[in-house]
Amino acid sequence: MSNQAQGLDTMTKLKNYLEKYYALAMSEAMFSWDMQTAAPRGAWESISKIIGILSAEAFAMSISPEIKGYLDELSQPAPFSPVSDIDKAIVRICRKQYDQTHNIPVAEIREYSELVAASDGVWRVAREENDYGRFAPYLEKIIGFKKKFAEYIGYKDHPYDALLDMYEPDMTVAKLDVFFAQVRERVVPLLQKITKLNKPAGAFAKQPVSKAVQEALSALMMRTIGYDLNRGLLAESAHPFTMGFSKDNVRITTHYHEDKFLSSVFSVLHEGGHALYEQNKSDDIKGTILDTGISMGIHESQSRFLENVIGRSREFWQSVWPEFSAIIGGCLGELSLDEFIFTINAVEPSLIRIEADELTYPLHIMVRYELEKTLMSQVCAVEDLPRMWNEKYREYLGIVPPDDASGILQDVHWSGGMFGYFPSYALGSAYAAQFLAALKAEMDVFALVRDGRLYKITDWLREKIHRHGSVYTPDVIIRQATGQDLNADYYVKYLEDKFSKIYGLA
Ligand SMILES: [Zn+2]
Repeated sequence: MSNQAQGLDTMTKLKNYLEKYYALAMSEAMFSWDMQTAAPRGAWESISKIIGILSAEAFAMSISPEIKGYLDELSQPAPFSPVSDIDKAIVRICRKQYDQTHNIPVAEIREYSELVAASDGVWRVAREENDYGRFAPYLEKIIGFKKKFAEYIGYKDHPYDALLDMYEPDMTVAKLDVFFAQVRERVVPLLQKITKLNKPAGAFAKQPVSKAVQEALSALMMRTIGYDLNRGLLAESAHPFTMGFSKDNVRITTHYHEDKFLSSVFSVLHEGGHALYEQNKSDDIKGTILDTGISMGIHESQSRFLENVIGRSREFWQSVWPEFSAIIGGCLGELSLDEFIFTINAVEPSLIRIEADELTYPLHIMVRYELEKTLMSQVCAVEDLPRMWNEKYREYLGIVPPDDASGILQDVHWSGGMFGYFPSYALGSAYAAQFLAALKAEMDVFALVRDGRLYKITDWLREKIHRHGSVYTPDVIIRQATGQDLNADYYVKYLEDKFSKIYGLA
């Protein structure tokens, strides 16, 4: 057999091997979907057990001697190495997963998994009872593990880089420091100006709207954005999420609160953005490990683009206003489009990240980014963290949490060991603004939205982003789509223009 033929043969073997890995991962996802949407509470324990077994099995496959053999062979220079972008990406992703984890001793992974499993319950009680002291020892241990893991995984400049890269490939402290410096210098003063104006949002947002009416609004939103219900469905869950099994099976959830109907409307748009990304992938990668979005940041760029950039624009609501009004009927009294647009964009510094508006959102992320970065590189006592948290809220948002439940205990991420995850939320918004600038250079984006031709914009996103799935890294996607690397200026400028206009500051 020639060297090239041997390379191809090995690639085929690797792909066959990954089919089983993919099936395990999808089965785990399906049980997880069931647990979060439909399964009765009594079934949770047994389902959790199954999820644990499937996930351990998939993990073992990703670091087995068999996969190492394939990867070593395919990592040799040509003619053994893969030729197509798809094959290269498969090898790149498997190699990375292998390299990042096989250095960590199995005993430490087990100890860490047990710690995280226990800390979830402790965190829930601590948050409920506003008792940071209960959670602190667990947090301290998790931070200890994260520091050790960063060393095992390896990094060039900053230990936090090792963790960032798990959620956003190639993301570093060096890049994020530049990014957040822009946010700090330009968004914080803008927020201070807006807060001084003291312009309240419309009270209609809290009017009761029945679940049946909200369901009709969900249907309107899904139809408007072009979410394909032949290959998707909408369910309910405590926290909205999207689960893409493959491009022909992409599911989303929402939640209905009678006194917060906008929450569901924008959740459907947000999850719909994630779903379009998953539904629009190319057939070439179907059923492979590339059949999913490339990173948390790029995924969030798609959800935030649809939710905020498009979904909170005047033109979007102009296009659906007649249908929206017909569905909502008299529920909200006499409501003008102007009042509606102002209210869905109203800015108000608040303590809770997941309820934050579009302008203050990155400040919540900046607080977490700065704390995580410090935790990973310095020795800090966990007892000091609530004070550090509160000081940053005072500095950036001008408010101080009255207690730890609405402060440092609010997010699930740290108890789950997800250090390095938060920045991807802010990056998503930044990527979205950069995509918007590139789109605007090619078409009159908001005129298309107003005229009900949103599909023209989706076509662009499909071509530049969606269809590639995980074939290219985020850096390559951004460069191919916009002609440049990530540039925070687009994002900050977008926020300045939008909110100066809404608040009459221009
Ligand atoms: Zn999201």
